[in-house]
Amino acid sequence: MKPTHSLACFFLLSSLALAQHQTPHKAKATKAAPVTRPKADPALAIHQSALIVDTHADTPQRFLDENFDIGQNTPVTEGHIDLDKVRQGNLGAEFFSIWVEPEFKGHYSQRAMDLIDSVYQQAARHPDKMTMAFSADDIARAHDQHKFAALMGIEGGHAIENDMRLLRDFYRVGVRYMTLTWSNTNEWADSSGDIQDPNVKHHNGMTDFGKDVVREMNRLGMIVDISHVSDATFYQALLVSQAPVIASHSSSRELTNQPRNMTDDMLRAMTNNGGVVMVNFYSAFIDENYRKASSDPEKIKQRDAEVEAYKKAHAHPDGSPVTYDETAAIEKKWATQFPRPPLKSLIDHIDHIAKVAGIDNVGLGSDFDGVTSLPAGLDSVADLPKITQALYQRGYTREQILKILGGNFMRVMREVEATAKRLQTERKESDALSFEDIELMAGNRVNHAQLMDRIKQHGVNFELTPERRTRLKAEKVDESVLDAIVKARKK
Ligand SMILES: [Zn+2]
Repeated sequence: MKPTHSLACFFLLSSLALAQHQTPHKAKATKAAPVTRPKADPALAIHQSALIVDTHADTPQRFLDENFDIGQNTPVTEGHIDLDKVRQGNLGAEFFSIWVEPEFKGHYSQRAMDLIDSVYQQAARHPDKMTMAFSADDIARAHDQHKFAALMGIEGGHAIENDMRLLRDFYRVGVRYMTLTWSNTNEWADSSGDIQDPNVKHHNGMTDFGKDVVREMNRLGMIVDISHVSDATFYQALLVSQAPVIASHSSSRELTNQPRNMTDDMLRAMTNNGGVVMVNFYSAFIDENYRKASSDPEKIKQRDAEVEAYKKAHAHPDGSPVTYDETAAIEKKWATQFPRPPLKSLIDHIDHIAKVAGIDNVGLGSDFDGVTSLPAGLDSVADLPKITQALYQRGYTREQILKILGGNFMRVMREVEATAKRLQTERKESDALSFEDIELMAGNRVNHAQLMDRIKQHGVNFELTPERRTRLKAEKVDESVLDAIVKARKK
């Protein structure tokens, strides 16, 4: 049942786009000959003129685990993103998700680095069409050069292995957002995915270290992403963060009752924060009927059993985990038993968030290549123009549509960059040592006498909470230094 209709639609859209591109050349060549031009579709014209940013796609697993080349044109049943589809959908920039499956325990950062490398490899293979990007200016520049901009966001704070140095390293290799948790609560932030599970140790939101992670992300210029987190983590992150945050791939809980979606109160908090909610396209997050049907416990049990059986039968000889990518076919097939929701359901979410959070606080976070079902007619990134058409039909203006498609995200990215610049300057100007300064010196094994000297000379600008005390002790900082820190506190 897939797609003669939507294929016809691709062809119509791309031939229109082609016609628009080619007309001036033809006119030049033939001069006097009248040009027959199809009546321009205003929605399509808006779409083609937009800088479109999508903030979440799980394609790196395909790069790494399947050796998928993004230059390869693949059927939509296999993947939602390749360069040809990106061109058809006029996608300007994608945040590729560095998603570390919790199964990689003990090797989180290594897995993350492998996924990061896989994104760079794709950009290196296709330098004429694709480029790595690390800032809002980079995205704009790539757009001017007609190149697809690839960015990276870590999905799941467990990837930093409770180590602030790794967080900084991830920034250095180009990661520009981090989702504080995935579906698993980590050692410093609670997730919505297991918040009801009494066997999981929760923190009532975030620990002191978790809050320091947010502060350090602000200082680095890494966007704080609150998709997946528990409600308490969400509100605490907003209190701590000095820069606007994003939800890289979350929808509305008022419309679809999924704990991972955002309540109207959360949406209003995003307005105050100045952040942006990037709407997730997954059928179970945007359509209540689909969510109910696909959350039938019996059916889930049967699917999970099938996945487990596959994992057992295909265990890797080196003991490494069987990845999501390998079992995705089972999950995709399972999902086909539930009818896809209409595209209208997705548009309803965009509309609702635009109304509650505001037109400046909504964007697109597809979750392409990470979900088993998309609304009908939206088979891949090539179908993005249909979203623009639907918004246009609902009365959204060109200016509003451009904000949703990418303008809002670009504003937030620039604000995050400006905040980082400000914080870094303030840090330089302030004499007092931060907790990170001391942790770094201790980690670098600066000797006891030097450490004492610096603390006495500069003072410190933080309170030594019990958790921070434990962390410094873990770095072999002794009691006399801890006492000196308490005395050296500057307000
Ligand atoms: Zn996710």
